Amino acid sequence: MPDNDNVLLEVRGLKTHFPAPAGTVRAVDGVDLTVRAGKTLCVVGESGCGKSMTARSLMQLVEPPGKIVAGEVLLHRRHETIDLAGLSPRGRKIREVRGRDIAMIFQEPMTSLSLVHRIGDQLIEAIRVHRDVGKRQAREQAIELLAKVGIPRPDKLVDGYPFQLSGGMRQRAMIAMALSCEPDLLIADEPTTALDVTTQAQIMELLAELQRELGMAILLITHDLGVVAEMADEVAVMYLGTVVEQAPVDDIFHDPRHPYTRALLKSIPRVGRAARHRLESISGAVPSPHDRPTGCPFHPRCPEVMPGRCDTEVPTAVRLGADRHASCLLHEPMIPSQTRGSVADDR
Ligand code: SF4
Repeated sequence: MPDNDNVLLEVRGLKTHFPAPAGTVRAVDGVDLTVRAGKTLCVVGESGCGKSMTARSLMQLVEPPGKIVAGEVLLHRRHETIDLAGLSPRGRKIREVRGRDIAMIFQEPMTSLSLVHRIGDQLIEAIRVHRDVGKRQAREQAIELLAKVGIPRPDKLVDGYPFQLSGGMRQRAMIAMALSCEPDLLIADEPTTALDVTTQAQIMELLAELQRELGMAILLITHDLGVVAEMADEVAVMYLGTVVEQAPVDDIFHDPRHPYTRALLKSIPRVGRAARHRLESISGAVPSPHDRPTGCPFHPRCPEVMPGRCDTEVPTAVRLGADRHASCLLHEPMIPSQTRGSVADDR
């Protein structure tokens, strides 16, 4: 259990697997994460490391034949704690949680919006599923929401269709849908990747403003370490289906403790570096999920690999401070005694 009692969502040992003819794909393979109320946790890592599947697993939105096979997703409400991983993916309880406690926005707005229904009707329906209000009041709330996310002439656009909006405006409409029930946690999966740079900045600023106003937590999946520096309170770094390091954002940028985090940071431009500084790429590629390395999953690419150890021992999460942990054998004694999923102390 993390030290901070302001924890909203706690993920422990989460595993989501997909059976396949060539062998089980372990898309999420023992994720530990902590999201604090009102704060932003950014999840970073290369493509294919399981970020999006982790987000979908939190909401029980995994497409069959994939399923959660182990772990807990503990949502701490005011008077109760619910293990979302234990709920039926199609049951009433998880449907209540989606939207009311946790909402999700995607890279592609049409994942959440229907092309053939008016924006207002979609918003009104979402509002009325979770709130006991009449149609007229829900319509007023829909217009207020559209205004809140910066849509011009919201009283007109409420009767428009998503295809009449630009990409940035659609993204704003999707955010309005997600906020319709004032969730405690907004999960945003690369919400600006498909947009131009100016619109990306506007959407990120909008999310930050809404967070300040509504006090919700944000779990933001992104490739963009510039966005992380702007938005994050904490950062979780993922590699091959596991979180290899989670720490406050300043610690990640100034004192990264996992070799993969260090390699990711060396591969991006930083303000203050010499103009002719060469960026380093991470050697090799993320292994196929059918061909996972033995021992530490990062060992074939790790510049700090310890031959004979890293290829045989699986690192466990080691606590490196009150609110940070990393999974690397550099932080473990030579004879490991921890069980995978537990967080040992190395302070
Ligand atoms: Fe590198 Fe070994 Fe640490 Fe893995 S356990 S990140 S291979 S040093």
